[in-house]
Amino acid sequence: MADYKKTIDFIKSVYGNKEFTPLAVPVFAGNEKAYLNECIDTTFVSSIGKFVDRFEEEMAKYTGCKRAVVCVNGTNALHMSLMFAGVERDDEVLTQALTFIATCNALSYIGAHPVFLDVDLTTMGLSPDAVKEWLIKNAEIRNGECYNKNTGRCVKACVPMHTFGHPVRIEELALVCEEYHIELVEDAAESIGSLYKGKHTGTFGKVGVISFNGNKTITTGGGGMMLFNDDELGAYAKHITTQAKVPHRWEFRHDHIGYNYRMPNINAALGCAQLENLNKCVASKRKVATEYIDFFNNVDGIDFFAEPENTFSNYWLSAVVLKDKEAQLDFLQQTNNNGVMTRPIWELMSRLQMFEKCENDGLRNTIWFADRVVNIPSSVRLEDL
Ligand SMILES: *Cc1c(COP(=O)(O)O)cnc(C)c1O
Repeated sequence: MADYKKTIDFIKSVYGNKEFTPLAVPVFAGNEKAYLNECIDTTFVSSIGKFVDRFEEEMAKYTGCKRAVVCVNGTNALHMSLMFAGVERDDEVLTQALTFIATCNALSYIGAHPVFLDVDLTTMGLSPDAVKEWLIKNAEIRNGECYNKNTGRCVKACVPMHTFGHPVRIEELALVCEEYHIELVEDAAESIGSLYKGKHTGTFGKVGVISFNGNKTITTGGGGMMLFNDDELGAYAKHITTQAKVPHRWEFRHDHIGYNYRMPNINAALGCAQLENLNKCVASKRKVATEYIDFFNNVDGIDFFAEPENTFSNYWLSAVVLKDKEAQLDFLQQTNNNGVMTRPIWELMSRLQMFEKCENDGLRNTIWFADRVVNIPSSVRLEDL
């Protein structure tokens, strides 16, 4: 068994040698308190208020999309996004088994079925090669729509996830989806601030989803956002996620089944303050990653997972790749026993009882990562801001 004491000491030193080093905690270094106080002083803590509009406008400007629409959390933003992409009951959705449960829960709320395809070794995210290969083998186009020849179901959408903030080969995925008439919905929950060839993740498809949960790069307490390049769809999304109320000074009229998924003003206030420091937060995470890269270059048996080519990663969660499953468990035990919080990558979706019968392509790289990847402490450092 390897002794990871040197690595444990190094990780502790990256975060100031505290007794306990958590995986990812938020930092509040700017106008958070001022904006929250403003909500309370003006009584606008709930479903209306200027911070909601401001947060949406500033996120649209920051990411370069046409319209950004807030949600209560990233999971319901994904649910809504799939709905806006046209996914219906019994459709199939191509996605990765190497993801957080929210991706699959969201499509399940609609009654759609995931098809789990493999990830790239370079990105840890959905592989355009795997998608193409599966489509060539299994898909046919009828009346301008893509169908799975074996199940007869419509393959409506493809949901790549930018794992730990590292962008997938999104341009190639977009091309495959276009060729097969499949809607592209990006789960960019982890990748705010990450770029593919200079363009923000979450802006390549029909809809992109960001999460502002407490462990993400910036937080609103709980919250999510949908990014649209289509103004009209964005406006429709705003309407549907705010109870589909027809604007009027006093009448209560609603023209669709709507959802109460709007982020409260108090959360948006936190988001506006956090957004002011987002670039510094990303810079801090990237600085931490650079320190890890330098260190792990000289460590046998542990590889640090670095950003793929053509990308700028927010390094939301730093990850290392151990030699095998045994080494992974050993590393997890030694770090967690010594005050350094680490976590294995998520249990694969294809191994959970709700999804174990879903189709998959063998998931060779996915399983390889599942047996080896461990996340190490990755918080933004206050002193970097
Ligand atoms: C965080 C996350 C989400 C959304 O999570 P919420 O907690 O609902 O905001 C969705 N997908 C992935 C991959 C995530 O990491």
